[in-house]
Amino acid sequence: QIAVVGSINMDLVFKTPRMPLPGETLMGHSFHQVHGGKGANQAVAAARMGADVHFVACVGDDVNGKSCLQALAQDGIRLDHIRAIANTATGVAGILLDDAGQNCIVLTTGANALLNESDIAGASNTIAQAKLLLCQLETPLDTVAQAINSAKQADVKVVLNPAPAQALSDQILAQVDYLVLNETEAAELSGVAVTNVESAAVAAAKLQQRGASVVLLTLGALGMWVAASDSSYFLPAFKVEVVDTTAAGDTFVGSFAVAIAEGQDLRAACMLAQSAAALAVTKFGAQTSIPLRDAVERQLHN
Ligand code: ADP
Repeated sequence: QIAVVGSINMDLVFKTPRMPLPGETLMGHSFHQVHGGKGANQAVAAARMGADVHFVACVGDDVNGKSCLQALAQDGIRLDHIRAIANTATGVAGILLDDAGQNCIVLTTGANALLNESDIAGASNTIAQAKLLLCQLETPLDTVAQAINSAKQADVKVVLNPAPAQALSDQILAQVDYLVLNETEAAELSGVAVTNVESAAVAAAKLQQRGASVVLLTLGALGMWVAASDSSYFLPAFKVEVVDTTAAGDTFVGSFAVAIAEGQDLRAACMLAQSAAALAVTKFGAQTSIPLRDAVERQLHN
C-alpha cells in the first residue's frame, strides 16, 4: 500500500504550428483534453505498476473534477481521501505545444491550493499504514510538510519529488528518504547548475549535505545520477523514439516508489523506473502515456 499526497489537474493541450504573439489569434492543429497533475500522474504510475494506491487530494465541483476522479477510479486508485470542494475549479493546465516540440504552460492550481491540514489529519491512519508516502510540490508546502511528519512518526518511508522547483528547508530534506528530482529542481535546491553527469554528481552531493538520504537526479534522455550513502553512480536511460516527454518524470517517480515499497534494491528500482519512464516518452500525453507493468518488465528484461 502506497499513500500519495498531491495535485489533480486537467491538461488542456493545443497543438499549434508556432506560439501565438500577444493579441494574435492563431489556428491550431488540434485540441486534446488529458488527465494530469503531478500527484495524479504519479498515483496512476504506481497503480499501473500494481500497487494499492491511496490518494489524498482536492478537486473542484466541476466537470473536470468529475472526469479526473473517474479516470483515477478506472486505474483502481482509492479515492476515500479526495475532497470535492464546492464553488471551486479543479486545477487546470493550459498547454500550447508547437511543431518544434516546445511548450508554453499556464497553470491554475484551483482546488489543489486548498488541500489543508484537516485533509492530512483525516488521512493520517492511511499514511501510517502505508509502506511509503509519495509527495510533490503542486500542493501547499505546509500540508506536504505535515504529511511527511505523519509518515515519519509512523516510520513510513518518504519519497519527495520537489516539483515544481521551490526552495525547501534542510529540516524537510532531512526527513526525506528518497529525493527524486530533475536538473531544474536540483539546481534550485543545490545552487549548482546541472548540465551534465559531473555537475549532477556535485549537485546531488550538496543535497546529501543538506540532509537528504538518497538523491536520484534524473537527466532526461541521458539517464540518471544515483547518490546513496554508500555509493554513487550513473545509470543510462533506455533508448526509445521520443513522441512526448510529458509525465516522464512522474512515471519515473511513481514506478520507483512501487519498486522500493516492494523491497527491491536501489539499482533495480531505478532501472524499473527508467524503463517505465522511457515507455511514457513514446506516447502522447500525461496519464494516457503511463505504461502497465507487463510492458515495463518486458523492456527491462529484453
Ligand atoms: P522530468 O520529466 O521531471 O524533467 P526527466 O526528463 O529527467 O524528468 O526524465 C525522467 C526519466 O525519464 C529519465 O531519468 C529517463 O530515465 C527517462 N527519460 C526521459 N526522457 C527520455 C528519453 N528521451 N529517452 C529515454 N528515457 C527518457
